[in-house]
Amino acid sequence: MVETFASVRGQERAIALLRRYLASGATPGGLLFAGEEGVGKEKAARAFVSALLCRAPGAFGACGACPDCRLLASGGHPNHLRIVPETHFLRIDEIRALKEELSLKAFSDRPRAAILVPADRMTPQAANALLKTLEEPPPGTHLLLVAHRVSQVMPTIVSRCQRIPFFPLPAETVGEILADLPEAEGRSGVEIRLAAALSGGSPGRALAILPELADERGTWMSLLAKPSPREAIAFAETWKAGGDSPGRLAAPLSLARDLSLLSSGEGADIMNVDLRDALEALAARPPAGGWDTVFRALLSVSRMPPQPQKRLALEAFFFGLHGKG
Ligand SMILES: [Zn+2]
Repeated sequence: MVETFASVRGQERAIALLRRYLASGATPGGLLFAGEEGVGKEKAARAFVSALLCRAPGAFGACGACPDCRLLASGGHPNHLRIVPETHFLRIDEIRALKEELSLKAFSDRPRAAILVPADRMTPQAANALLKTLEEPPPGTHLLLVAHRVSQVMPTIVSRCQRIPFFPLPAETVGEILADLPEAEGRSGVEIRLAAALSGGSPGRALAILPELADERGTWMSLLAKPSPREAIAFAETWKAGGDSPGRLAAPLSLARDLSLLSSGEGADIMNVDLRDALEALAARPPAGGWDTVFRALLSVSRMPPQPQKRLALEAFFFGLHGKG
């Protein structure tokens, strides 16, 4: 199946811009898809390329049935290139290979498009090598740069592209998108709403958080209820083993937030509604300093750069909770 604009949700402004380019037939040589990770930028870039290549595009983009659409769906359309770094950064040899490819005659009379992702991880040499192509792309050629953090893209690159802005989505929209994904099958409504609420408006991040929520909520409930130094150290150790993905502190943050709300009599808005009874019981037994202090302490740990400092901070957090810090 080819990607269409119908599958990009909640990014009306970006899609309207892209449609305008398609309708005018005057697509710039360089487009910068800019915004948070996981909000639909690459999906939109793919939908745009499909619509460019399609011989009979409609309101939502590619038709899905013409020869070019079928070729694209098979993954073998030579006018569509996707450049991803082999290592952490896009390097100059990868950009040179792209330029060489683009210097050859195009396969068909259709436009040619290369999606570079992520364009915010490019060595300065690679970025410099790309400048001239961005300035004067071969006829009918478009470079689509997908960047999660535009501040990391060289200003000379940014200034040569038309920016397509993407924004964080409302938690409700993230929840709806998440609920429709096959990966969310079997997850409870509470978990989906929680992941959406903690995702910062990014369906991609919500998807990363989701599987960890279920496992970690139970563990954290018992850790918060009966903190012991030994358990704290053991748990902080698992941090080292399990890596530090964005969702690691999502569960405890949501629990501490709920406890803080409940203990101040504002329990109407808690996130973990399925654990309300247990949370109410726990809220009535606050540690020294109260649950709000716990929530703020966890929030500051969550904002720390990755381990090992974070693991130590987490140990310190538990010792504090236990009252022996
Ligand atoms: Zn088509």
